[in-house]
Amino acid sequence: MMTLNRVGVYTSGGDAPGMNACIRAAVRRALSEGLEVIGIRRGYAGMINGDFVEMDRQSVSNILQKGGTILKSARSTEFRQKEGRAQAAERLNAAGIDALIGIGGDGTFQGATRLHDEHGIAVVGCPGTIDNDLFGTDETIGFDSALNTALESIDRIRDTADAHNRLFLIEVMGRDTGFIALECGIGGGAELVLVPEMLTDVDAIKERILSLMSSQSRSSIVVVAEGDELGGAHHIAEALRQDGAFDDIDLRVTVLGHVQRGGSPTARDRVLASRLGSAAVDALLKGHTCVMVGLVHGDVELTPLRNAWGRRKDIDRDLLQLTELLS
Ligand code: ATP
Repeated sequence: MMTLNRVGVYTSGGDAPGMNACIRAAVRRALSEGLEVIGIRRGYAGMINGDFVEMDRQSVSNILQKGGTILKSARSTEFRQKEGRAQAAERLNAAGIDALIGIGGDGTFQGATRLHDEHGIAVVGCPGTIDNDLFGTDETIGFDSALNTALESIDRIRDTADAHNRLFLIEVMGRDTGFIALECGIGGGAELVLVPEMLTDVDAIKERILSLMSSQSRSSIVVVAEGDELGGAHHIAEALRQDGAFDDIDLRVTVLGHVQRGGSPTARDRVLASRLGSAAVDALLKGHTCVMVGLVHGDVELTPLRNAWGRRKDIDRDLLQLTELLS
């Protein structure tokens, strides 16, 4: 069993609402177990440069409700190289850090797996990404907040679309997955949802939209995942306009972009982040390493880190069908 005295906590990759709540939970739980906690700033970039800060209960006061991450995040190309990871391991050893709690997405976990395999550093991951694309947890920290932000925007766009009988293509985030798009589509009553998990058939979209708009003379909303294989909402709009069939339709494109990342986390994300931050400490205390803590059917479960990023979590096909049935 490894000795556990000093734990390092870091956030990495794309920021997500709820990361602060997770940091707070991990720090406070670790302190209450008698451990020392070191905050590693700017993810792997800070790990390589020794950008460490000692954390106490006070340093995580009043952050639970805030978006972003007080530890900052970064993308580090150096850490992708063996030499960069060796330097990070040296820094960790010199600072007496026995174990890590990493909050981030699949890239963060790939890096953590390598650090563990190459240098024997104990690490537990907390799934922090708006994309919800990690295997081993029903939801990731930040997904619910991003989803609700996107949904609020879709509701607003619906008002203006309706006033003018317009067709809106609304692009939402999600990298190469359609989790945000799918749930936004259902929650926002979209006429169509285009996700990377399904081939996008431009002719079929045309036919469907034209029949909806001509028969009922109404607005239409199509939610497009940024990772859709046709290249996002602007490209799809271009394809729809190509043969002139949409000349009489007032087609607009809105790309929601980074608004989806910011803002205060939802209640659901705060609770999820608090549970998983605490569970990560628990896992380390029990001697687990190279695992991700997740929530599966309401219970905390551990998944090997390499499965969390290596296995694909599929979208719910029934939900996809539901969007069609209800449009
Ligand atoms: P999100 O999915 O929200 O964007 P992420 O954690 O996937 O978050 P990435 O930028 O992919 O974000 O990864 C974060 C960092 O992890 C990278 O900048 C890099 O330093 C490290 N990393 C990613 N992939 C690897 C890898 N294969 N090997 C080593 N390090 C990696």
